Amino acid sequence: MKVYKSEGDGVRPLRLFVGGVHGRECRTTKPIFEKLVKLRGPRKGSAVVVPCLYMGRYISTLDPEYLNSKAGRRLARLVGRLKPDVYVELHCYKSSSYRNLVSPDRFTLKGVPPLVELEKGVLIGLVSPVLMAKLKLRTPIIVETPCGSLDNLEVVVRILKTFIDAHSVPESLSILSDRYPEQMNRVLKLYGKWMV
Ligand SMILES: [Zn+2]
Repeated sequence: MKVYKSEGDGVRPLRLFVGGVHGRECRTTKPIFEKLVKLRGPRKGSAVVVPCLYMGRYISTLDPEYLNSKAGRRLARLVGRLKPDVYVELHCYKSSSYRNLVSPDRFTLKGVPPLVELEKGVLIGLVSPVLMAKLKLRTPIIVETPCGSLDNLEVVVRILKTFIDAHSVPESLSILSDRYPEQMNRVLKLYGKWMV
C-alpha cells in the first residue's frame, strides 16, 4: 500500500482519501489520486491518500460480507488507526450502472438513497450504511466517477481538492454548495438525516 502524506500545520484535521476499495477500481482511482497529491496540500492539518487499497475480488460495500473480506478488514484497520476527521472514498462505476446509482428507485432496490451527479459523471453521496455502521465516522463521503475515463479528470480532482482545502466535511460541502447549489440541495435532502 502506498500512502501519500501532505503535512500542513499539525496533524489535525486529518483527511483520509481511499481508492481501490474493491475489484479493479484502482486502475481508475490511482491516476486520479496521483494528480491530486501533486497539488497544494492542506494549509492546516494533514491528508493521507491511499490510491489503491486493494486489487482483487469485487464485493459490493453494500454487502455486509465486505467487512469480512481482505479489503474490508484492511479498510477498518486503516480507519481505526488514523481516526480521520474527514473521510472520502473514491469509487468508479461502469457506464451500465449509472442509471441504478442515480435512480430515485435506489432506495427501494438497494435500501440506500441515490447518488447525485455534480458534473461530468462525478457522483456524490454518503458511503454504504454497512461501512457507516462499522467505521463510525462523521459524514463519510463517497465520490464515484466513471471507470477508465479520464475525460473528467480535472473535474473529479477539483471536487476531491475541496476536501483538502476545507477543514471539515461541512465546510467542504458548503464550498460545493456554492459551486453546485441545485445538486447539493438534493444531497442534503437525500442524506441530511445521516449528516452531523
Ligand atoms: Zn466501488
